[in-house]
Amino acid sequence: MNLVFVAMPAAGKGTIGKILNSLYGYKIISTGDILRKESEKNNYIKDTIAKGNFVNEDLIIKLVKKEILNLGDNLYILDGFPRTLNQAQAYLDMLDEINGNDFAVINFEVSKEIVVKRIMGRRICFSCGAIYNVNFKEASSKKDGICDFCNSPLSLREDDNLESIEKRLSEYYEKTLPLIDFFENINKIYTVDANKNIEYTLSQIKSIIEMEDVKWLQLKLQEN
Ligand code: ADP
Repeated sequence: MNLVFVAMPAAGKGTIGKILNSLYGYKIISTGDILRKESEKNNYIKDTIAKGNFVNEDLIIKLVKKEILNLGDNLYILDGFPRTLNQAQAYLDMLDEINGNDFAVINFEVSKEIVVKRIMGRRICFSCGAIYNVNFKEASSKKDGICDFCNSPLSLREDDNLESIEKRLSEYYEKTLPLIDFFENINKIYTVDANKNIEYTLSQIKSIIEMEDVKWLQLKLQEN
């Protein structure tokens, strides 16, 4: 069962994805990471992300399709896609077209106040990809501003500033929130409480994965 993460910015999708990758081997398709890489050679993407706007629909749909096809039969987590109704429909069409595996959507529910606190405190190690948060003791690096793993200096993401956060949140409310009804209507969505710590979010998602595995096994048994 593939997983699709839908959430406000900084709800914890990236961190949970990394853990699920090491626990269960899910491959991660993070559109934010892919776009940040692409932005090194594409000024349109760089400017769009920095301002907190969504990038062009056709571009993102093509990128995701390529990634999914590259993964073959590997289980994956979609982190950051779909983010609009158009992208959600494109995802369903894509799965039909390539005969893709089934999926469950995880909706990370988190308050706006917590999101802003997390984004303002987020610090990234651009050398090894580790993510810290100065606003939460348990997520801080041991030495201020220095990565625990590779000793490189920590930095802010270019779009982690108040102006861009406001824009990212308004994009979320206007364009991403309607996905919850969309996936509820086709019975594909689970909502988890992402207001507390990572362990709490993770335990809810693990139960969902187990439940989906049991459903899948039951179906297989019925087929045989
Ligand atoms: P966040 O912490 O805001 O969730 P991400 O790393 O997921 O950040 O995404 C960073 C930026 O990349 C977004 O603000 C947006 O500009 C762009 N982006 C990522 N995914 C998509 C998508 N599915 N559609 C359009 N733009 C996207």
